[in-house]
Amino acid sequence: MSVLGQKPIEIDCEAVWRNISDYLDKEVDPQLRVNLEAHFKDCAHCSAILDGTRNVLKLVGDGRSFELPAKASKRLYAKLDEHLGRQKS
Ligand SMILES: [Zn+2]
Repeated sequence: MSVLGQKPIEIDCEAVWRNISDYLDKEVDPQLRVNLEAHFKDCAHCSAILDGTRNVLKLVGDGRSFELPAKASKRLYAKLDEHLGRQKS
């Protein structure tokens, strides 16, 4: 797996959530990026999470408190929260 122009490989929602913060930090490899982008196109759910996570990261980047969008599913965000917390430690 290397060059750009890779064909997306189907990944499940859980794999997307696991990689979503790296994706937003641009720390994923090109193949994974293609996979994620293909998934976001097909999956309204993950695409909504992507938007929510992007907003959250923006808030964190601004040095503001970690505030979750009210519309977001609490359960999903608990997963993301857990993941982001694990990365920091
Ligand atoms: Zn999905």
